[in-house]
Amino acid sequence: MAGHVSGGVIVFQDVTDAIAMATQMTHLTNHDQLTGLPNRVLLHDRMQQAITVAESTGHMVATLLIDLDNFKYINDAVGHHLGDNIIQHVARRLDGVVDTRDTVSRIGGDEFVVMISDCKNMSCINRVSTQILEAIKDPFTLAGEEHRLSVSMGISIYPNDAKTPEELMRHADTAMYKVKSEGKNNIAFYSNSLSHELEERLSIEKLLHQRIKEEALEVYFQPKYSLVDGQLTGMEALVRMFNQSGQLLPPIVFIPVAEESDLINQLGKQVLEKSCRQAKRWLDEGRPTKVAVNIGASQFNKFGFTKTVADTLLKCDLPAKYLELEITESALIENINAAKQAITSLQKIGITIALDDFGTGYSSLSYLRSFNFNVLKVDRSFINDIAEEEQARNLFNAIKHLADSLNLNIVCEGVENEAQLKVLQEMGCTEAQGYYFSKPLPAEELENAWASIAL
Ligand SMILES: [Mg+2]
Repeated sequence: MAGHVSGGVIVFQDVTDAIAMATQMTHLTNHDQLTGLPNRVLLHDRMQQAITVAESTGHMVATLLIDLDNFKYINDAVGHHLGDNIIQHVARRLDGVVDTRDTVSRIGGDEFVVMISDCKNMSCINRVSTQILEAIKDPFTLAGEEHRLSVSMGISIYPNDAKTPEELMRHADTAMYKVKSEGKNNIAFYSNSLSHELEERLSIEKLLHQRIKEEALEVYFQPKYSLVDGQLTGMEALVRMFNQSGQLLPPIVFIPVAEESDLINQLGKQVLEKSCRQAKRWLDEGRPTKVAVNIGASQFNKFGFTKTVADTLLKCDLPAKYLELEITESALIENINAAKQAITSLQKIGITIALDDFGTGYSSLSYLRSFNFNVLKVDRSFINDIAEEEQARNLFNAIKHLADSLNLNIVCEGVENEAQLKVLQEMGCTEAQGYYFSKPLPAEELENAWASIAL
């Protein structure tokens, strides 16, 4: 009957092989056969992706072009088969050094590229590149014989040196040839300013290591005064570091390096202990003075921080009421609940907590309400123009009202002249610090700090 379906034919085909074949084809076109590493094609693709991500994050993408030194001679000497084995060894070592989200690629006979995506700072690039040099330096044993290798490495960085994968590769190549021409077995950056910056950072990091080890970081103290009766109300402890020639390095130079290199915790611990010892000394001398110590974000968020503080107080035999901790908002956002708990337990011991540099960070009102701070330190940027500009006064007034309604004590940072002092007094501010009173000084130079100041 027309139009009546009486049956159907279904054709089955096993496509497993076809899929496997297609997958293998893709793998073959994207990977190097000898090492199984991504080849130039896949590398280019990943570089492009990393650059796109970096455009929005503002981070860096580093291209490390690595060339084995004298590989041609080795290859000729040991034969191609063993030469291939060496290449495979190098590939594994490189792969062992980098993070899973980074790419190790073989782009030619003895040429590799390591792409580090998402670098927040130069230290991470420096770390990986030195690790690579170290990893390659270890002798290889092949067919019972020991071989030693070295590499020349050229580094270029997005966005500093180049904007595209092609440009990055070209510039890394230029830097790599610079190393070859200067005696091999080394690292060079495409940009001189970057390598100079890196050298400087490295020397600061080295100095930090040394000073921490020698316990030779210095702590200076800046007095805080009552604007009501001119009496000393406390001291802020500030870390200072001298270089080999006795020059004082500003904290803005070495604190970021300490943060990036994870030395900040040791630094913070040492400063805390030295500050507590000094507070104890003053207490024993009959000049009880509360010392405020700045705590970095990673130090505050480190597991066991509360215990470290309590242990330090015990070790220095200092009653908790002579210690205040200054914490910035950035330290609190990492884990708000944990931060709340830490602050509460520190306060239970008897320590007071100041929110530092208020007005420069997020200045979230909800933080102010949900954290039970004792003190609000108003950033110097609000004090700078307070004598000249009405707007600055209005802003300060708003902060003052806010603090009053939350029962927070205000301390004004950065008071530099009498005009500022007078305005602050008129506005009912009761406590301040700044160069007008005293700059930060070593403890032994602060003999006069306890005499009340004339207001
Ligand atoms: Mg501070």
